[in-house]
Amino acid sequence: MAYDVNHFIGGKMVEGKSGRFGDIYNPSIGEVQGRVALASKAEVEAAIATAEGMFPEWSSTSVVTRGRIIQKFLQLLYANIDELAELVSREHGKVITDAKGSVQRGIEVVEFACGIPHLLKGEYSDNVSTGVDIYSMRKALGVCAGITPFNFPAMIPMWMAPMAIACGNTFVMKPSEKDPSCPMRIAEIFKEAGLPDGVLNVVNGDKEAVDTLLTDPRVKAVSFVGSTPIARYVYATATAHGKRCQAMGGAKNHMIIMPDADLDLVTDALMGAAYGSAGERCMAISVGVTTDDRVADKLVNMLKPRVETLKVGYSLDPASEMGPLVTREHWNKVKGYIDLGEQEGAEVVVDGRDLKLQGYENGFFMGGTLFDKVNTESRAYKEEIFGPTLQIVRAKSADEAFRLPTIHEYGNGTSIFTQNGHAARSYADKVEVGMVGINIPIPVPLAFHTFGGWKNSAFGDHNTMGMQAVHFYTKIKTVTTRWPTQRTGAEFDLPTLK
Ligand code: NAD
Repeated sequence: MAYDVNHFIGGKMVEGKSGRFGDIYNPSIGEVQGRVALASKAEVEAAIATAEGMFPEWSSTSVVTRGRIIQKFLQLLYANIDELAELVSREHGKVITDAKGSVQRGIEVVEFACGIPHLLKGEYSDNVSTGVDIYSMRKALGVCAGITPFNFPAMIPMWMAPMAIACGNTFVMKPSEKDPSCPMRIAEIFKEAGLPDGVLNVVNGDKEAVDTLLTDPRVKAVSFVGSTPIARYVYATATAHGKRCQAMGGAKNHMIIMPDADLDLVTDALMGAAYGSAGERCMAISVGVTTDDRVADKLVNMLKPRVETLKVGYSLDPASEMGPLVTREHWNKVKGYIDLGEQEGAEVVVDGRDLKLQGYENGFFMGGTLFDKVNTESRAYKEEIFGPTLQIVRAKSADEAFRLPTIHEYGNGTSIFTQNGHAARSYADKVEVGMVGINIPIPVPLAFHTFGGWKNSAFGDHNTMGMQAVHFYTKIKTVTTRWPTQRTGAEFDLPTLK
């Protein structure tokens, strides 16, 4: 049954009026299953006006009341987790168990946001000068906006909206137009939890909607997650319009495999980290770097049969290990990179390009691809592929291996597998990458830490999640007080401590 996804403004579903729509595919069968309204500038402005109108009331609602609404939201998210996971799996194509895990990781941010009364506490210094006290408080910014990518339609909206709203802001979310149903359902659940209408609004759309959010003076802060060229554009445009901006971009994450690493563990770790979610994760491991050719030979021999027998299947089938890619367009892009990698001289050990699934011939399925002997000067190595491919690079030494993630333009995540504590510690200390795993393939920090890459993987100086999110979504006010009992007369010198 084809369906329409519209907008959620002022606590109500609002029909799109622009006359423009995007297709929503079921990637497993390769057919359009619905359409999403693409908002006009005027429709986005209406959402911003609604959010702005609610700001005085919401920002002055007591922090304990806000925290309790977040707690109720948390309960309802758990009650609806299966439905949310199914929406993710049906529109994105990641397998249902993985989809549920991604909803869970978003819920963990809501768990953190429940502690908002504690998180927003300011600082207090008493008697800094005789009879003078100083305290600081964290105030909400106003209307904040979130622009999210296709690959985590539950988790990434939940990195943003719950934290911004808990801090007292109102919010306009612009989800990916490829899989918008889950963020819409999350907004409905927030309303069911008692969030007043207009605090959280969702507009669906494309560049027109994004550009409106980036330039409208009523929007005070923009959180973005997506590809690097768009992240760079969003950061430049939002900041040029006087807004705070955190913009997370693409990735090319390396795993260093030291000669003493347990190769059974490494093989398991690489299978999940490279091919889970069909490689459509910004923390996917897409490059494995060995430091010794004998280890590389052994590893490739161990990986080959595992990649060849990956269970690729319908995303809602619990037996599937890997689902389809999100769209035909993305499938073509990934295939183009595999073609390029081959032309650039890498050895194709397993070729996933020709996979056809019986009964799902039109689905956007691709098997796993494994490249060996990848040249670090090649474009296929330097650029993000974002598909089920793993590239093995054979470095000649640990020093050479350690340098690769540092000199790569991306710096989101990396990991090292070794039994040598000294090597691991020194790698974690020196590598120019934002998130490091030691014997952990996908080092996504939990919600009470923070998430963010370096170099071209992130623009702006605040990560998402944890206290960095609280700092991003608030501004500090510092109050200096005195209750004088007698007049001291006018002072013309800058006051100093007395
Ligand atoms: P994308 O950049 O194409 O789209 C992201 C958002 O930007 C969407 O909401 C989209 O509608 C909007 N957008 C697209 N083109 C635009 C334009 N020209 N002007 C204004 N807005 C535009 O990214 P995607 O394909 O949805 O997601 C995949 C990318 O996201 C990958 O590069 C991946 O590495 C990255 N990603 C990064 C992180 C991270 O935390 N660093 C997390 C998840 C995904």
